[in-house]
Amino acid sequence: MEEQRPDDERDWPESEIVVPLSAVEHYSYCPRQCALIHIEQTYEENVFTVRGTLVHERVDSGSESVERGVRTLRSVPVWSATLGLRGKVDVVEFPGASPYPVEFKSGRRHGIHADLQLCAQAMCLEEMFGVPVPRGAIYYHATRTRHEVRLDDRLRQLTKATIDAVRTMLASQHVPPPVNDARCRNCSLHDVCLPEVVGEPARLRGLQGVLFQVWQPESADYPSGDRGGQACTSS
Ligand code: SF4
Repeated sequence: MEEQRPDDERDWPESEIVVPLSAVEHYSYCPRQCALIHIEQTYEENVFTVRGTLVHERVDSGSESVERGVRTLRSVPVWSATLGLRGKVDVVEFPGASPYPVEFKSGRRHGIHADLQLCAQAMCLEEMFGVPVPRGAIYYHATRTRHEVRLDDRLRQLTKATIDAVRTMLASQHVPPPVNDARCRNCSLHDVCLPEVVGEPARLRGLQGVLFQVWQPESADYPSGDRGGQACTSS
C-alpha cells in the first residue's frame, strides 16, 4: 500500500530541492527508509544507530591535523551546486593535490550503498576544489577495515541516477511501500515502518477492518453488548 500526501504538500519545485548526502545511501538501501527519514523526519535509535553515533563522535570534531605528512580535516561541510547536494564528509585527507574522502560506518560492509554516498561526497569535493577525486575510502568500524573505492564512471552514473531518484521522491513527498525483506531485520525504522503489516495488503485490510468496526460505536449492525472488540467499550 502506498502513502500519499495532500496535493498542496506536493508542489515543491523539484529543481530547487537540495539532496542531503546521507539520503543517497538511505535511498540505495531502501527508498522507504529514505522517505521516512527525509520526508517524514522519522528517526529511531537502535543498537546500530547508537554504534554509528559513537563512531562518528570521534570524527565530528571539525578538527585539523597532520599525520605522517598527510593533512587531515574532520567533519567537512561540502556541497555541489551542479548536482544539488549538501552534507558533510567525515574525514578528508590530502595525500597530494587531490582530496581523499573517508566515510566512517559503524557496521560491516553490505553492498555498495555506502559507496554511492562516498561517490556523491567526492563529486562535491571535485566541484569545490576543481580537481579530480578518483578514489576514496570507507572505514568499517565493526571489522576495523578500510575499504578503498575506485570512483569510476559506472559508480558515478549510478550515484547521479540515485540523486535524481531521491530528488524526485522528495518533490513528490511520496512514501514508497516497504521492501519487506532481509533488509528490514536490522533497520532502525522497523517498528515505525511495520513492513510485515504494511507490506501485506491482505493483512493490512484485515486490520483496517477491525479499526473500522471500532470506529462505529453506535452502529445498528452491532448487537448490543458486542461492539466488535474491547477497545471501544473501555472508556
Ligand atoms: S523496515 Fe524494511 S521497508 Fe521499512 S524502512 Fe526499514 S528496510 Fe525499508
